[in-house]
Amino acid sequence: MKKTKIICTIGPASNNAALLSRMAEAGMNVVRLNFSHGTHNDHLKVIEYIKDLRKKSGINIGILQDLSGPKIRVGSLPDHGIVLEKNTVVYFYHGADYFIDSNSAVIPVNYPHLLKDVNEKSTILLDDGLLELAIEKKDKNRLRARVIRGGVLKSHKGINFPNQILSQRIPTTKDLEDLAFGIKHEVDFVALSFVQTADDIRCVKQKIRAKKSKAQIIAKLERQVALKNVDEIIAAADGIMVARGDLGIETDISMIPIHQKMIVRKCNLQSKPVIIATQMLDSMMRNPIPTRAEVTDVANAIYDGSDAIMLSGETAVGKYPLQTVQMMNKIADNVEHNLGLDRGWIIDSGNHIKHGEETAIAQAVCQSAKDLKAKFIVVHTMSGQTARFISMFRPETPILAVTPLESTYRQLSLIWGITPILLPEIKYHFMDIIKSTEAVLLKTRYVKIGDLLVISTGLPTAKPGATNLMKIHTVGDIQKS
Ligand code: PGA
Ligand code: MN
Repeated sequence: MKKTKIICTIGPASNNAALLSRMAEAGMNVVRLNFSHGTHNDHLKVIEYIKDLRKKSGINIGILQDLSGPKIRVGSLPDHGIVLEKNTVVYFYHGADYFIDSNSAVIPVNYPHLLKDVNEKSTILLDDGLLELAIEKKDKNRLRARVIRGGVLKSHKGINFPNQILSQRIPTTKDLEDLAFGIKHEVDFVALSFVQTADDIRCVKQKIRAKKSKAQIIAKLERQVALKNVDEIIAAADGIMVARGDLGIETDISMIPIHQKMIVRKCNLQSKPVIIATQMLDSMMRNPIPTRAEVTDVANAIYDGSDAIMLSGETAVGKYPLQTVQMMNKIADNVEHNLGLDRGWIIDSGNHIKHGEETAIAQAVCQSAKDLKAKFIVVHTMSGQTARFISMFRPETPILAVTPLESTYRQLSLIWGITPILLPEIKYHFMDIIKSTEAVLLKTRYVKIGDLLVISTGLPTAKPGATNLMKIHTVGDIQKS
């Protein structure tokens, strides 16, 4: 049972039912719909395929909607682009049309707060950071910039202003329209791009709850200011994505591994799921085999402690979507057998953030399962929190999380080491809880008579936060209990 979860971005290379089904069998746990691309109709098609696949295969697949946020772009340029030569002066303005004024290029930008937000002496990066310019001066309606690293600039390429605080807050108008669509079609997770503060998350969470959706919020860390506010953002979000694409433009690219380890560690200690994203197996967009460096990157993300690893272009537009999932799955499987979990994980009772009955039980459950060589840890969970606490201790023993709530069942698809099981009926007496749990585990063939389980549960039943019991149980021993 694979512990690390795999997220696949779906696009033209993978948006068909047969392939999605094979990707799910190959280890895909969550699909990501990237709202920077595609129409609502394209995304709806994938959502319907997934809902159908869940029903037919019984495989639990989460749906993550990724909102594009305030991605700033260049407007329309001449067909073949324009050449920006080193040391020359160009201008940027908020508008749609490109023109030339006294021999200098005047480049349109889609961002209304351009002049207000961008300071003199700051940097502009174009096309994923390939081109770099220095802002020399703010004129009346334009920014005057000098080209530091030149090249060809084409229409609609992305612009980044590292280190600047952008006044355009999230969600944008487009995000709100996309969010309404996502909630209507029951997405399980909503990812927010270019988060700057914890307030960004609270604002969107309020909108989601106002629509009676339980969708969880994943904050994408991809701006310098988000790193500054990292603790509050992790506390406010339900999960974090280390969005290495934009992070590698907005911050010094050579710092990515250091940021990655810092973020993963903080999330582990707060029992918040953390996703490593972007270019994990990038060369598999073109080749059937990854590079050695990519294989090692995937492995190291798992060694760092990430819950989930993500594929972007590889599965959305690449040539080998299925092979990429298979490769990622294989790397995860190999690493998990060599993680040394039996020697204990980095988190001990001394340094994780939350303390209380639930974490005490969670730790005791992990230790008991290890000591007794139990086949499974079984946890009853309403919101998923107790299951996440157990996962936080990174036990070697696989975790079966039994929940009556479909939303929790779906959302646990993202959590390290957990296999969620849906058991809609709720029992109120201790022995009935054990009996119904045993029955569902036997029926789903996870266990057989004689298997040893360490079960964590709570009374009164179905009260979130009431985990207060641990039962060491041999399957079939109901009468003796
Ligand atoms: P994106 O986010 O693919 O939506 O840009 C991920 C990243 O920036 O790494
Ligand atoms: Mn990004």
